[in-house]
Amino acid sequence: MKIQKIDIFYFDIPLREPFKISIGTMAAANNVLVRILADSGLIGLGESCPFPPITGETQETNISAARSLRGLLIGKDPLAIANFIQEAGSFLSSNPSMVAAFDMALYDILGKASSLPLYRLLGGEKSILETDITADLDTPKKMAAKAKGFIAAGYRTIKIKVGQDPDMDVARLEAIREAIGPNCAVSIDANQGWTVPQAVSALKRMDTFKIQFVEQPVAAWDTAGLRAVRQQSPIPVMADEALFSPHDAIKLIKEEACDYFNIKLMKAGGILNALKIAHVGESANIRAMVGCMLETRLALTAAAHLMAAQKNIVFADLDGNATHTIDPVVGGIITKGGVITLPDEPGLGVDIDPVFLEKLRKV
Ligand code: MG
Repeated sequence: MKIQKIDIFYFDIPLREPFKISIGTMAAANNVLVRILADSGLIGLGESCPFPPITGETQETNISAARSLRGLLIGKDPLAIANFIQEAGSFLSSNPSMVAAFDMALYDILGKASSLPLYRLLGGEKSILETDITADLDTPKKMAAKAKGFIAAGYRTIKIKVGQDPDMDVARLEAIREAIGPNCAVSIDANQGWTVPQAVSALKRMDTFKIQFVEQPVAAWDTAGLRAVRQQSPIPVMADEALFSPHDAIKLIKEEACDYFNIKLMKAGGILNALKIAHVGESANIRAMVGCMLETRLALTAAAHLMAAQKNIVFADLDGNATHTIDPVVGGIITKGGVITLPDEPGLGVDIDPVFLEKLRKV
């Protein structure tokens, strides 16, 4: 089998409201869609979701990277995914989201060629997962109302964005716990927003609110700081922005800097590298969450396949499309009240609504 044709599309999804975290605000999901056609007739779909403040990519850098990656892949064997990842890595050290989109499309073809849903092909069995849902930054009162709405919709785990003024962050947690009661699980994400002393003091004050873990309390580059927070915090620490690659995973383990990993396809550069990170974590007895940016159900489905195949990925934060105004994906995961059901079709089990696809700007 050889890759015959690759189509690249601007894949813009408007949001109901801007998504605000401590390091930036996103007004829309400016994603890129990739469609790989093999000479056997099999088609693979992939999606990138560049998140500039975290991965340093934009839609335009992704498009430019996609042109080059297309050149690298035409005529190659679509099943030789490890070759692609190695070549992409030595060719392009950034734009992991775009590499992820190609990797995902190749796995889609691999699954279809094997007549197996991807999670089965990767060794998984369970097709029902559970995800949290995120309340982004706002006033304590508005965040509490949002969290209450999530519980009413059936969610059992809420993720709360923090990472601004620690007093305000404590007030957020207080208001939210009061609104949702003591039983539902809560995690927090500071998105690098605190200094080490701020993080330690905030986390000690927040311990009373029963928090599962805190994501990335301090700057992504500050491994020593992350370790210092972990040593003093009563709440377990999860590395997110500090963890892109399998190399980062090894560094974090060596430095004893975190309790958990947050693995995202858009940071790792796709499923193959995400699996490597999960395996490194598993080998060091570190459990993980699978997270996302603002992907549609296409890339979210790929992430769900990854989770279903990996025993040590025990948390899911796959709510990237929660504020999307349109859902152009046909098939794929179905999420209801936090319960995710995986598709059982071969490959990713997703398609794009042909009417929507027709309107997209092609590169
Ligand atoms: Mg995070």
